[in-house]
Amino acid sequence: MPKLKLGLYWAAACGGCEIALVELREKILDLDAAAEILFWPVALDYKYHDVEQMPDRHLDVCLFNGAIRNSENEHIAHLLRQKSKVLVAFGSCAHTGGIPGLANLYSRAAIFERAYLTPPALDNADHLLPQTTYRLAEGDVTIPQLYNTVKTLAQIEDVDYFVPGCPPQPPQIWNVIEAILGGSLPAKGSVVGANDKTVCDECQHARQEKRIKKFYRPHQIIPDSAACLFDQGILCAGPATRGGCGALCPKVDMPCRGCYGAPAHVADQGAALLSAAASVADASTEDEAARIIGEIVDPVGTFYRFGLPASLLHRAKT
Ligand code: SF4
Ligand code: SF4
Repeated sequence: MPKLKLGLYWAAACGGCEIALVELREKILDLDAAAEILFWPVALDYKYHDVEQMPDRHLDVCLFNGAIRNSENEHIAHLLRQKSKVLVAFGSCAHTGGIPGLANLYSRAAIFERAYLTPPALDNADHLLPQTTYRLAEGDVTIPQLYNTVKTLAQIEDVDYFVPGCPPQPPQIWNVIEAILGGSLPAKGSVVGANDKTVCDECQHARQEKRIKKFYRPHQIIPDSAACLFDQGILCAGPATRGGCGALCPKVDMPCRGCYGAPAHVADQGAALLSAAASVADASTEDEAARIIGEIVDPVGTFYRFGLPASLLHRAKT
């Protein structure tokens, strides 16, 4: 039986998705036995040129991690779509925008100003900003253009499957690989490597009726390990997050941050979590409710930590 032709790519992301693949441990040998990796820039010395030379749809599957942050990310996404039978948005950043998506709170101009003009330790008297082309005696140098808005892979290309998680959990990655090898993938557009429950459904912390007078950040309180973190005022995204990770974070008394994205029945993860928080505020007046909710630090980073680009908001107006 011919080996599966596999490509892997890393766009705007931290590299954790690549590490998660290595965490398959001994199963990586099974992957090696079943698949021939034809493109994996982080591990193998293949060039873009090698991909350009492939016939269209030459790769059976491409696992694409990372958001679309710049013109290079977009160019390679289009190229890999053309060269792959199945394109998978792999991990939170490709799926919902991920942590890089929080840059959508700012404009490109504001980010350039903060990075290149105002840092106290930077000497940039000529107020130079990155240019996409620069002429040197040796020839023109080009760099990718940073986009004003971070996008998900599906916002610029046709995606066949979505594997959520920051990063996807190795047992779930293996389930996906087995489904690919066995030809048992579900309908196009499905989220795979997860389930249809919420993180709360997989969590061992006991839930009671919630009456919250004050929300805490994790470092401000030592929680009761048996009780639901949300019940104790720690904003846990479990009720608004797709299951599949085994409730990894609550297992160690840390709140879920929402990296598996919204469950199938939820249109906007952040709005669902905000609604959950507002509905448990123990307030007798509107002012008191506003005070309790208003004390939540970093609301966008709390409610939309992994999914601002995929949300109904997409980005801030700047
Ligand atoms: S809110 Fe968090 S701690 Fe509570 S049951 Fe859900 S996942 Fe567990
Ligand atoms: S508990 Fe939440 S943040 Fe933690 S791995 Fe699972 S989905 Fe991601």
